[in-house]
Amino acid sequence: MDGACAFVSLLPLQTDGEGNDMVCTYLIILGILLLVLYISLFIYNRLVVGKKVRQHPCKYCGHMVNAVSQCCSAPVEERFMAGRCSKCGKSTRTVCATCKRELY
Ligand SMILES: [Zn+2]
Ligand SMILES: [Zn+2]
Repeated sequence: MDGACAFVSLLPLQTDGEGNDMVCTYLIILGILLLVLYISLFIYNRLVVGKKVRQHPCKYCGHMVNAVSQCCSAPVEERFMAGRCSKCGKSTRTVCATCKRELY
């Protein structure tokens, strides 16, 4: 942040010392805000991608249904040949959210 403050003090916008302090404070606040925004976006993306419920055709319901884990009825993180429950983290079978019957 020292570099940024030195850079700002070189700008002809604020010439008095108090003004520079204010600009530095604003820069720090702006930096923190951007960081918070970035982190919250990152977490939001992870949550949305991790808990996105994929649609599967259910042979009992006869249409596309939400696939959930057998243990917690939570979204399943799908892996090759197996699913992992997003709630308890255990490997689980994927069941239909409507009729609770196995999808595979
Ligand atoms: Zn079903
Ligand atoms: Zn579970």
